[in-house]
Amino acid sequence: MIQEKAKLQELAELDKKHFFHPTSAVKSQQESGPAFIFIEGKGVYLYDESGRKVIDGMSSLWNVNVGHGRRELGEAALEQMSKLAFSSSFASFSNEPAIRLAAKIAELAPGDLNAVFFTSGGSEANDTAYKLARHYWVLKGQPDRQKIISRTKAYHGVNIGATSATGLKPFRDFTNSLAPDFHYADHMSTEELRRVIEEEGPETVAAFVAEPVQGAGGVHIAPDGYFKEVRRICDKYGILFITDEVITGFGRTGTFFGIEHDEVVPDMMCFAKGVTSGYAPLGGVVFSDSLYKELGDLSTGTLLHGYTYSGHPMACAVALKNIEIIEQEGLVANAKRMGAELLKGFEAIKAERSIVRSVRARGLMGAVELATPAGSEPLAPTVVAEAAKHGLICRFVTFDGQDTLVFAPPLIINETEIKELIVSLNTALQEVEKLMGSEG
Ligand code: PLP
Repeated sequence: MIQEKAKLQELAELDKKHFFHPTSAVKSQQESGPAFIFIEGKGVYLYDESGRKVIDGMSSLWNVNVGHGRRELGEAALEQMSKLAFSSSFASFSNEPAIRLAAKIAELAPGDLNAVFFTSGGSEANDTAYKLARHYWVLKGQPDRQKIISRTKAYHGVNIGATSATGLKPFRDFTNSLAPDFHYADHMSTEELRRVIEEEGPETVAAFVAEPVQGAGGVHIAPDGYFKEVRRICDKYGILFITDEVITGFGRTGTFFGIEHDEVVPDMMCFAKGVTSGYAPLGGVVFSDSLYKELGDLSTGTLLHGYTYSGHPMACAVALKNIEIIEQEGLVANAKRMGAELLKGFEAIKAERSIVRSVRARGLMGAVELATPAGSEPLAPTVVAEAAKHGLICRFVTFDGQDTLVFAPPLIINETEIKELIVSLNTALQEVEKLMGSEG
């Protein structure tokens, strides 16, 4: 016991001093150290160094779709790494897992999305889509088509291109120089999209990018018909339509890809996260047959775009096994069923607690909006802290005046675990209501 305490303390000190945490409050991280040092995951649960067990209500970063502790994925990685851990995919070099995964994703992707360009993650996938969209227009003899339009409240990642496309302003204001030619349209209005295109000049617009359900921006679901109209607008103006399925892909919303709810097919589709359930870093962009063919027909030299880890054999082998699990265990259907249970639980909480303003979910992507008293600080960060004390990890979104809790549990979650999640959330909300009462 004493030894364990000493180890915990040692790790916390080393963390504070040497581990520069991504997306963190740097000062408080340096001073207070880690809140959890996780050591193990099993199913929907995470376990930490100090013996705590919590429900991973976010699938960590919306990505651990098949849940934690999947030995098969470790074995797939071991087998591939022992045979061929890495080889290049540049030029005409290839490897079996990358070939088979590209074919599998083509089989699963909607419509004629059939050609897969691999990256290491979602930000690189987005940059690849924007860059190759612009390259396409150069090849087509329309080099003025440089602009990328995205949506308010969108999140597309953190490299310069993806940051520039991100509609959440604090991410853009974080740095003092962005990529040029990015513009934003209101996230729920096709009229606004049309207006921005007209204002900028359609002949200068390369592509429009959208998440089928916005994730990091607060789990926002566009109105029915929004994406059908987006497709019509893009077709009318000759603009490429890119969907960012980094969160919504691989079953999260109760269909294999999020855009299937809207029955439209984009020209390019970004993916990452759920493709390996986070067991290996991997992302990519799926191109339509016609775009891929045109890129081939029009290009003259080498396509000067590729990452060292594009088509990484181990990551692709893990992805293949992960997709096999999603299919064999019927996890897409489970996400739909359990998503309905999650929403039911949210609605029951809303009926009971005045602190809740509204709730929403599509599959296992959900949000609980809080009724913040006028002029007060957002409540969601306190709820998240309380939820952690009651065995639940969830996330708050306070951008753009929002006061929202978001959820994305693993797709393997069952009814009992959903109930457990709801009880923990309800308790956390009750605690915050009590705090508010005692302050008021
Ligand atoms: N796109 C979306 C919709 C995301 O949610 C994310 C990450 O959360 C990204 C892109 C960036 O992916 P990554 O962090 O793998 O670079």
